[in-house]
Amino acid sequence: MTHWIEPADRRVGILGGTFDPIHYGHLVIAEQVREALGLDRVLFVPAALPPHKLDEEVAAATDRAAMVELAIAGNPAFAMSEIELRRGGPSYTADTLGELVDEAARQGVARELYFILSAEALAGLGSWHDPARLLELARLAVVPRPGAPLPDAARLVSVLPGGAASVSRVVCVETVPLAHSASDVRVRAASGRSIRYLVPPAVESYIRDHRLYRSDNPRRTA
Ligand code: ATP
Repeated sequence: MTHWIEPADRRVGILGGTFDPIHYGHLVIAEQVREALGLDRVLFVPAALPPHKLDEEVAAATDRAAMVELAIAGNPAFAMSEIELRRGGPSYTADTLGELVDEAARQGVARELYFILSAEALAGLGSWHDPARLLELARLAVVPRPGAPLPDAARLVSVLPGGAASVSRVVCVETVPLAHSASDVRVRAASGRSIRYLVPPAVESYIRDHRLYRSDNPRRTA
């Protein structure tokens, strides 16, 4: 099973998300973490059913994945994995990382995984499925998000499973703050307002052509 990780990719970032839709906020953190940590690849992993959004409607997985592919085209260090879409059901990051670690073992490759997430998402890590296992399988690359600055050491100890013992598993990366959010893009698109400069042009066209997020086009669950 390939996820577009080449055997030569030793340092791999993983950006999981709902990507409903992908926007420049996602792309900037992926690119700047790649550069800061010298990653060979950043894998974008759209969730099938985001565990924290099980009671919300999300656009069809096929649409969300198509937009990710359009957005990352042209960056040879970026790739998308359908690992969570194929697995189906609630998309637990620990399971995804477990599959990626198993794959590296099968390939006989020593690979370091960095799971990229914002300081906002980090604050909720304790409620994720098996966060201790997640931290064993990958390091965390934490980025700021407007309203959620990078955590200091004390804050890290309070949010990490394993507390102080886990701090060495985290690297904080100062990225350019962009206040983009997928929910804001959806609200704008729903009322036919401009989303230009919030998402790449190809994603903007896709949303327009498929009438995604319009009130007269009911959103489908994945
Ligand atoms: P929504 O507005 O629907 O909640 P979102 O914009 O947060 O969506 P997700 O796909 O849920 O997008 O995000 C995936 C990951 O990217 C999460 O860790 C999230 O915190 C992070 N992220 C999203 N937007 C930004 C941003 N503008 N700056 C930094 N991190 C971001």
